[in-house]
Amino acid sequence: MRASIIAVGTELLFGQIVNTNAAYLSRELQTLGIDVLYHYTVGDNADRMRDMLRRALEETDLVIASGGLGPTQDDMTKEIIAEVMGARLAPDERALSEIESFFKKIGRDMTDNNRKQAMLPEGAAVFYNARGTAPGFAIASASGGGTVIALPGPPSELVAMFESSVIPYLGERADAAIYHRMLRFYGIGESQLETDLSGLIDGQTDPTFATYAKEGECSLRIASKRRTREEAEAAVEKAERDVLAIAGDYMYSDSDEELSAVTARLLLESGLTLSSAESCTGGLFASALTSYPGISEVFDRGYITYSNEAKSGELGVPASLIESHGAVSEEVAAAMAEGCREAAGTDIGVSVTGVAGPGGGTEAKPVGLAWIAIADADGVAARRLLSRNKGRDVNRRVAVLAMLNMLRKYLVRKGG
Ligand code: ATP
Ligand code: MG
Repeated sequence: MRASIIAVGTELLFGQIVNTNAAYLSRELQTLGIDVLYHYTVGDNADRMRDMLRRALEETDLVIASGGLGPTQDDMTKEIIAEVMGARLAPDERALSEIESFFKKIGRDMTDNNRKQAMLPEGAAVFYNARGTAPGFAIASASGGGTVIALPGPPSELVAMFESSVIPYLGERADAAIYHRMLRFYGIGESQLETDLSGLIDGQTDPTFATYAKEGECSLRIASKRRTREEAEAAVEKAERDVLAIAGDYMYSDSDEELSAVTARLLLESGLTLSSAESCTGGLFASALTSYPGISEVFDRGYITYSNEAKSGELGVPASLIESHGAVSEEVAAAMAEGCREAAGTDIGVSVTGVAGPGGGTEAKPVGLAWIAIADADGVAARRLLSRNKGRDVNRRVAVLAMLNMLRKYLVRKGG
């Protein structure tokens, strides 16, 4: 199958936003074995959009449009696609009720232009939007003249919809079955992972492998296109086993789950109770963990002990220890973990203390340095962390990932 991508939006032509959706879609389609021949970008202009779509349909069998599905006047992607594909727009009941309940939930009145978002081309496969209100859709020409898929512009909505709806849709249409899995890794960089797996990846046409860098972690997509789904699934599973033999130490999920979710689930399964003491992350660890539903059963409390006085007062860290080693030190991190565990009366205590920056770094303790620790009834273990210092926020988030992974590894050891 050959595809083109049409990115819609005057902001793109003005250079106000970068066309990351086209890059994402190209990469994804490639791993699904679909060749992307053209990227088009067009402003919010009906005539030019119509021309572009007709041209793309002449040249390729699949056209994916991004953007312009919203409720406002300048959003006209849907209307143009319906016109070119010769379909009428009609209200979709489920889309309408989802938009209605969205507005009810936020306590606002729905306007007529919101209702417009539930109008979809007749005969289209509808992709409901888990992250926003505008549904996407796919419409295939009755006369064999190609397929058009329309996705919302906001990247988080587009990505979520592609993963949950477009991949299965394309899988069903293809004369072959597509199966994919997203593996997630912590503690290994994208380029290292790619290098370690080069023996598997190089020259491989099926399954295909694609690595993705994420902040502090990375992912690997394994995809296979075979005659049947069973064959594709078996090929991916075999490839996953090969990957695990090489980089299994770093993998924490093979179903694209967040590290916080994996760790939270393990904690719930263990039944062990947890408290946390955070300095430089200001509660981000507790926030990440508590985004997991049901975690209140095992997560007791989080202390944010920013000042030295708080570390001593709340957690019983001796002032002399802070004075002799400094607040950012192995000793203080360990004492914080033990102190919060005792103060809260939980099975486990975790802690972090670090230099988030941009100021406050020294040669001995540079910005990006953090100590994290985990304590239980048997003792305490601390780890040093030095992030590459891509700014205060990144340093803080990277420290949270390290804490989550430390806790995850602890729980895996306990469980196994
Ligand atoms: P909305 O309901 O939010 O209006 P929409 O489907 O109409 O969604 P647009 O209005 O075209 O989409 O774009 C909404 C926002 O999504 C843009 O302001 C921009 O931030 C982002 N966006 C749109 N297209 C792209 C793209 N090609 N690459 C990256 N970001 C994009
Ligand atoms: Mg819009």
